[in-house]
Amino acid sequence: MNRPETEAHAPSCMDPHDSEALSLDEAVARIRSSITPVPGTETLDLRSALGRVLAQNVVSAVDVPPHTNSAMDGYALSGADLPQDRPRSYAVIGTAWAGRPFTGTVDPGQCVRIMTGAPLPPGCDTVVIQEHVTREGDSATLGPDNKAGQHVRPAGEDISAGDIALAGGTLLRSAHLGLIASLGIGEVRVRRLPVIAFFSTGDELRGIGETLADGQIYDSNRYSLFGMLRRMGLPVLDMGVIRDRREDVEQAFLDASQVADAIITSGGVSVGEADFVTDTLARVGSVDFWKIAMKPGRPVAFGHVGDALFFGLPGNPVSVMATFYQVVQPALHSLMGLDRTDPPILIRAICETGLRKKAGRLEFQRGILSRGADGHYVVRGTDHQGAGVLRSMAEANCFIVLPIDQEKVPAGSTVTVQPFAGLV
Ligand code: AMP
Ligand code: MG
Repeated sequence: MNRPETEAHAPSCMDPHDSEALSLDEAVARIRSSITPVPGTETLDLRSALGRVLAQNVVSAVDVPPHTNSAMDGYALSGADLPQDRPRSYAVIGTAWAGRPFTGTVDPGQCVRIMTGAPLPPGCDTVVIQEHVTREGDSATLGPDNKAGQHVRPAGEDISAGDIALAGGTLLRSAHLGLIASLGIGEVRVRRLPVIAFFSTGDELRGIGETLADGQIYDSNRYSLFGMLRRMGLPVLDMGVIRDRREDVEQAFLDASQVADAIITSGGVSVGEADFVTDTLARVGSVDFWKIAMKPGRPVAFGHVGDALFFGLPGNPVSVMATFYQVVQPALHSLMGLDRTDPPILIRAICETGLRKKAGRLEFQRGILSRGADGHYVVRGTDHQGAGVLRSMAEANCFIVLPIDQEKVPAGSTVTVQPFAGLV
């Protein structure tokens, strides 16, 4: 168990450099490598499995498509019987529809009218699209510029019988539901969802409906945390506000660890007089690390209480959201059993506003991204970048990601932007 550093080394949000802080990438890699997915699986009908993680491979018992079929509306015939160097007429001996195949034999000099998705009739392996055919009564004239095998989708082109159609660890999105349905499978085995408990710490916090006395504020973090967790499809346990008393914080940790797979707290994580979170974590569990070189969002404590993962996020409302997306969300993906996480979507944009920045930390400033008339992306920083100004997060539609060594950004510079779409 690593004890947090002593008060003599208390971090300050004002420190531009902090040699003990981990880089964000290193912190996330360390967290993810320490996580094993939640145990337990359940079988769900296909629709209910949207957003869940496959617990085992889905193996196909059938070919998809089950029969070789036409990719276009046109005329089917044998490729060997195509016209050689000048147009030639064929007898049209029937029609093949999707769901209503033509079952007769197609001899040389004959063809069959065929619709998209219809099985190729016996003896046919080629489709000539209707735009390239001159039809007169029961006769169709084809030109010489066609290739044997064209416009045909072979049986098993999508998936062959016995193939692993989807691997365990896949997060099921719309395409996956469709793919599983195409195999005729109506139920899948998925991992249990991890249950996430969260609470706020702070004597100053009051709930909605309470009257604020001097120095008190409404607790907003439990609402943004609720939103972010529910958007991930995770079940949540809102454990309310815990006062800044050692015994209360300790009891809350122990209670949460009994019922949840992960615990998220906000506030009380730095080493101020009333900040018990890191201390308590060290006493009742373990602290793996508690400083990441990012802004907003330091300090962030990561550790365990019993079998539960523990994330102690800062109290400032913007810091809670930035650290959730950058640190907690990838960790929860691992806990959910996802075998891979898509890389962050980062785009380059011209920054129309100047941005303040000191070297030393990776910064996630809040920005408003749009597309200029010339098709290029442009971004503006939101007016207030303070870690307590939740409005900056509400107005923004992206993070402007500024590298550790970056200093102030003059207007007109190219910056890297992480859109909220895809992140939230
Ligand atoms: P702390 O990390 O506890 O020192 O809190 C940092 C700042 O965030 C202080 O201004 C707190 O009042 C504020 N804060 C902490 N928790 C919350 C919360 N749940 N909702 C809104 N503001 C909070
Ligand atoms: Mg506090």
